[in-house]
Amino acid sequence: AVPIRLERCGKTFAGSARALEPLDLTIRGGETIVFLGPSGCGKTTTLRIIAGLESPDPGGRVLFGEEDVTALPIERRNVGMVFQSYALFPNMTVAENVAYGLKVRKLPRPERARRVEEMLDLMHLGEFAGRRIDQLSGGQRQRVALARALVVRPRVLLLDEPLTALDAKLRDSLRLEIDRLLRGLGITAVYVTHDQGEAMALGDRIVVMAKGRVAQIGTPREIYYQPADGFVADFIGTMNRLGGTVQGGMLSIGAASLPWSGPDGAVELLVRPEDLALASEADGHLGGSVAAAVFLGDRTRLVVEPTDGPALTVDTLGRSELGRGDRVWLRVDPARVLAVP
Ligand code: ADP
Ligand code: MG
Repeated sequence: AVPIRLERCGKTFAGSARALEPLDLTIRGGETIVFLGPSGCGKTTTLRIIAGLESPDPGGRVLFGEEDVTALPIERRNVGMVFQSYALFPNMTVAENVAYGLKVRKLPRPERARRVEEMLDLMHLGEFAGRRIDQLSGGQRQRVALARALVVRPRVLLLDEPLTALDAKLRDSLRLEIDRLLRGLGITAVYVTHDQGEAMALGDRIVVMAKGRVAQIGTPREIYYQPADGFVADFIGTMNRLGGTVQGGMLSIGAASLPWSGPDGAVELLVRPEDLALASEADGHLGGSVAAAVFLGDRTRLVVEPTDGPALTVDTLGRSELGRGDRVWLRVDPARVLAVP
């Protein structure tokens, strides 16, 4: 599988502010990298630069392995693309849609038929080969789009919000299927989404973007547990913020204090809802009362109002009977807290 390198790839569209700040990134061969960020942050622009649908501003370069493809148009880069809207030929059959790229590449008919069949099997579409696209559900259409992109054996697979148009259940099952597919094929893939769940589930690494800039690049665990800044912390999952003061190896949060290593001074503490544990009064650091309890089946999400300081979100696994007005104590594990000076 081919690695991709972006060198100083920025983009300024004529007559507008810069959409993408110059970006340096190496995508390893066989890696699935996810671009994640809110709408308008430059994800699609980056993907289109990799595809060859957009050229980077002067000075930027795109490399596939050792080959500089910056000046090559999309049809000479051998990339497969899947979009949010299916971009299939509605009046052709499933098999004809999948065969299209092979026909353009002038593969002999028997080879074409063999590869289409193989790809339809891989995507569990065998029984739909003769159906027209407008006779398929959204999920089936997206599987056809994937088959069509992959049948030409592209060097790189590029996916731009492929699940966004589908309903939640279908999104989950197709996400699992895409994961299986990418891992099985070992292809280099770039996946664009604004959905953090998708990014965490699919990405070997995630590139978090904000306003045309990279906010952080890391594995899902790094992004989740060591967010580079407040934007990343808030964009991925739920993060509590607590104010504290460090003095002489002790951290004070409200009236509570616990051992802490780090320089003296005021700190902002970031802590995940699942890392605030319910404790007894003797073991707890923060007292408060439950302002809301939302039963979510596998866990209960509490909103706890401490005696002083902002409300905290706390997740409890198991069969919590806590409800509004109950008095609770929270324990802060120093190893699970991130301090921002
Ligand atoms: P995302 O995919 O993250 O939602 P885009 O890459 O589509 O973001 O867009 C990034 C920014 O560039 C946006 O401000 C968008 O309006 C702008 N933009 C994208 N394409 C064009 C274009 N062809 N002409 C002018 N501005 C564009
Ligand atoms: Mg987009």
